[in-house]
Amino acid sequence: MVQTTHNGSIWELTAPAAPVTSHLTADINTDVLIIGGGYTGLSTAIHLQHSSHDITLIEAHSIAWGASGRNGGHVLPLIRKDPKAIIAQLGIEQGERLIRMVGESADYVFSLINRYGIDCDAEQNGWIQAIHSQQQLAISSKRFEQWQHYDADMAMLDRQQLAELMGSEAYLGGMLVKSGGHINPLAFARGLARVAVENGINIFTDTPAMTIEQIDKRWQIKTRMGTITANKVVFATAAYSDALWPGLQKSFLPFYLYNISTKPLDSAVRSAVLPGRQPVTDSRGDAHVFHYDGAGRLITGGTFIFPVNWENRLIKHAKQILSTTFPQLESPEFELQHIWRGKIAMTTDVLPHVHELAPNVYSWIGCNARGIALSTRMGAVLADAVNEVSIQDWPLQPVKMEVIPAHTFSRLMTSIMLAYYRVRDKFM
Ligand SMILES: Cc1cc2nc3c(=O)[nH]c(=O)nc-3n(C[C@H](O)[C@H](O)[C@H](O)COP(=O)(O)OP(=O)(O)OC[C@H]3O[C@@H](n4cnc5c(N)ncnc54)[C@H](O)[C@@H]3O)c2cc1C
Repeated sequence: MVQTTHNGSIWELTAPAAPVTSHLTADINTDVLIIGGGYTGLSTAIHLQHSSHDITLIEAHSIAWGASGRNGGHVLPLIRKDPKAIIAQLGIEQGERLIRMVGESADYVFSLINRYGIDCDAEQNGWIQAIHSQQQLAISSKRFEQWQHYDADMAMLDRQQLAELMGSEAYLGGMLVKSGGHINPLAFARGLARVAVENGINIFTDTPAMTIEQIDKRWQIKTRMGTITANKVVFATAAYSDALWPGLQKSFLPFYLYNISTKPLDSAVRSAVLPGRQPVTDSRGDAHVFHYDGAGRLITGGTFIFPVNWENRLIKHAKQILSTTFPQLESPEFELQHIWRGKIAMTTDVLPHVHELAPNVYSWIGCNARGIALSTRMGAVLADAVNEVSIQDWPLQPVKMEVIPAHTFSRLMTSIMLAYYRVRDKFM
């Protein structure tokens, strides 16, 4: 029977426990308040832990209740724009800084995992983009060439090489990004939280920030049972941003992604399906994704134009893509057990945006579905902002936060976007 859990994810059942935290029950002062307990918030906290600041992090629910505890676990050092397009938009100097930051971001995640001994089933065995059409083959070859210019450790795979690594004949080839890999995403976040707590960061969970107000150059944030007065504030609320900071939740398009896992597959099946164990995302706009968790469950997913009855439709969708991609899987083997979904923030230019929302208030938005490595790395950028590193030295320059026109229709906009991807997938 398929189960829908909490934030629902399989990771709830498989990640080590989070450090013990409780909600705020008093009025406190702090130098830096971080709002949001996902990768961005936790990574910002960890980067500030040895500074002279007193740091507090509050999370509305539990650690990584948002996308960080629900995602697919594919770690990859890419964003949705390729280097040439990034440079065309940001110029050579800023563009190259972002490209290099993104290119190093997967190594960055695995180095944190190693440095702090985070138990999260991490495997840095590469990430594969499987290519489903001739047009996408041409696009991926150009992508590969552009990243080669920045010394990215990648390889193009021909049909045979891809089939050997993936155990599927369904694709024309692929691109292997060697610094990528996969993790138990909730375990990674809980590991970061453990490090933060051990290093003196005050973490309060079940503590939603309800209002924020500037009083005498300091910021006063009200929560249910206590008020926090802070010199600096970091919004690490991403796609789960609410109305706390006016306009922030309207500066991106919220987009739901859906995941589903099989029961653990036995070793004979696993040696025929994804034998290389790399996580795979294919080149469709409405991508097909595949990877194993630490216990050998095969995880896949999807998106919906209209998410009505999404649980049953996801089961049907998963069965269909698993059986067409891996015909060697017998249907009882992909008995589906867990199903969940989460929200991501898409920006209209598909680039990450850093904001100085007001004096001493910082944020970033726009993982565009590729956010494990990026959010973790952005934590360091936000820590630089807090530490007053000169803006010119940030890897990504801050931009003005802008509300997307007609955001009230964002649900419709994302449905149209997805419908467009689906049509495009059929023809290219
Ligand atoms: C289903 C799914 C699959 C994905 N798969 C992948 C993948 O395979 N690879 C990849 O690279 N990326 C993936 N992503 C994207 C990735 O998970 C995100 O980019 C990343 O987790 C964002 O981290 P974050 O810390 O910025 O935000 P989040 O983890 O969303 O954290 C924001 C937190 O802020 C808290 N919050 C909000 N408002 C308040 C408030 N007022 N007071 C206190 N707290 C507040 C929320 O409760 C939430 O916990 C996926 C996302 C989803 C949803």
